[in-house]
Amino acid sequence: MGEPKNTPTTTRVSSFILMIVFVTLALSLTALILALNAFDNNEIIAGYLMLAGFIGVALSTYVLFQMRRRASRLNIVVPPVTTVIECKKCGFKSVREFQRGDYIFKGVEPCQKCNEKMMITAIYREVKDKEKERSRF
Ligand SMILES: [Zn+2]
Repeated sequence: MGEPKNTPTTTRVSSFILMIVFVTLALSLTALILALNAFDNNEIIAGYLMLAGFIGVALSTYVLFQMRRRASRLNIVVPPVTTVIECKKCGFKSVREFQRGDYIFKGVEPCQKCNEKMMITAIYREVKDKEKERSRF
């Protein structure tokens, strides 16, 4: 109940990368501002600072875009997991989204028709390809 869907490791890693990206971005912007200030005194230092700033901005933007692309790809790749609940007495079948803690032969809520306790009979991943394979757990 109330547990996050993402695994803690993934969330921690991506937020760590995000932190690094924002620090890099902040440093790069600082370098750019310093470069503008240094232009009157030393053009070479200003040039280097500007180069470092641009590289930093480009790198952090690139990493951010990569992370967003990976996240959206993950959403497409991982299909929903379905749980099938069946009533052994009257044969009533109910399908719902997989919930944490579901397992086959687990007794769940009573049947809507005959009030007999129902049971999980199948858990599978929905595959929207031609070959609709049902991998039972
Ligand atoms: Zn029933």
